[in-house]
Amino acid sequence: MEKVWKKIVETLGKKLGKTANDILAEAVVFGGVKNGEILLYVSNKIIGKKVESEILPHLEKLIVDKTVEELSPIEKIKIEYKEPGKNFADSLLCSPNDSNYENDDYLNPKYTFETFVSSSSNEFAYAGCRAVALQPGRVYNPFFIYGGVGLGKTHLMQAIGHSCRNQHKGLKVKYVTSEQFTNEYISALGEGKMKNFHKKYRNIDVLLIDDIEFLAGKDRTQEEFFHTFNDLFQRNKQIVICSDRPPSRIQRLEDRLVNRFEKGLMVDIQSPDYELRMAILNRMADGSKLKLGSDVLKFMAENVTTSIRLLEGAFIRVMSYHSLLNKPIDVNMVEKVLQDIIRPGSKKVTAGLIQKMVAAHFHISLSDMASKSKQKKVAFPRQIAMYLTKELTDLSLAQIGDSFGGRDHSTVMYSCAKVTQLIMADNSFKGEIDSLIEKIREE
Ligand code: ADP
Ligand code: MG
Repeated sequence: MEKVWKKIVETLGKKLGKTANDILAEAVVFGGVKNGEILLYVSNKIIGKKVESEILPHLEKLIVDKTVEELSPIEKIKIEYKEPGKNFADSLLCSPNDSNYENDDYLNPKYTFETFVSSSSNEFAYAGCRAVALQPGRVYNPFFIYGGVGLGKTHLMQAIGHSCRNQHKGLKVKYVTSEQFTNEYISALGEGKMKNFHKKYRNIDVLLIDDIEFLAGKDRTQEEFFHTFNDLFQRNKQIVICSDRPPSRIQRLEDRLVNRFEKGLMVDIQSPDYELRMAILNRMADGSKLKLGSDVLKFMAENVTTSIRLLEGAFIRVMSYHSLLNKPIDVNMVEKVLQDIIRPGSKKVTAGLIQKMVAAHFHISLSDMASKSKQKKVAFPRQIAMYLTKELTDLSLAQIGDSFGGRDHSTVMYSCAKVTQLIMADNSFKGEIDSLIEKIREE
């Protein structure tokens, strides 16, 4: 169905003006087709209104005219509001207000240096953030933090914001996700308020821009961001950027942005080591009124390893289970409650799911997974997907080859060996793969 959406965007894109085209390509997420209804997600009401007035009539016409054949069964178009990517642990952890913090100028009061636990997996990033916060705009500019999901990037970035506000009174600090930046840009464009937009973003002393990988493929927003970046940078304003991977690995990010980012300091956060996981658990246990046995904490630290967010989610899940059902907390109980986190194998991961997730991660189309193309931009993700299929399913090399467009088992073997080698040689690549695995298992 994603193909259909692509076709819609292409067809409408040709017909509509630049603004409507931008809205469609950059601010609307296709939610699928079900029971004759096509679902579109937008992240705020302003964009929802624009979509309703500027896009829907054209989309309806496409359906009526049967321009895009696959749309014939559709009778209704539905628009829903959806916050960007929240997963299980997030929904447990975030009070409704938390998301406001992320979507506004405000910083989440929880995310300070004082509440951040430093260990060998994040100490470089932590030290860099401290230095930036001490002398914003002076030492490391831009400052780029990257690492897998749930490892503390947003926390550290916001800690810089808090610290700057506290230590340097009068500094204008702004935290924004690149998705929010995109939406604001599109709204400003649509409403003819670009002047206000420029004023807002060029009047900042410390710009914290989160999840920059979201800008992949959004050419016009990238261009706008490039100008914002240059304007701030030339006036020695601090720019801090977070991403789930290093700049050079963000597909479809303009070279000039990658170059700018790489000129500053880049720091990575790696998967949490055992000491860090234990320290976080101990802190959470201290904060709760319950006494937890050291065997229970040890069991959790040993088994929930991929991210701090997941660890926090696991802890909260155990606590909720205990207080709702009044069951004593012991290793058996924890093992049962956390079964799907600890042994995700019980959920069936398929080659198809892996292909879908890897294609989305690298912004290539699902059909590239089975295509004959040897272009690096598709061949490499395909090799990663083969490796993951070997790791996460019980399929044989030959079966894996089959599901990737009838490739030979030796091709699969070569791909697995190559990816394994890269994982061993490059920690940040390992982090990217770990976080992909986590995303696949959470699906
Ligand atoms: P990311 O932005 O890398 O996906 P977050 O910054 O949102 O991750 O972190 C996820 C959760 O884990 C947050 O609640 C954060 O406070 C917590 N967290 C991550 N790393 C640490 C750490 N080193 N010390 C304390 N809390 C942490
Ligand atoms: Mg984050």
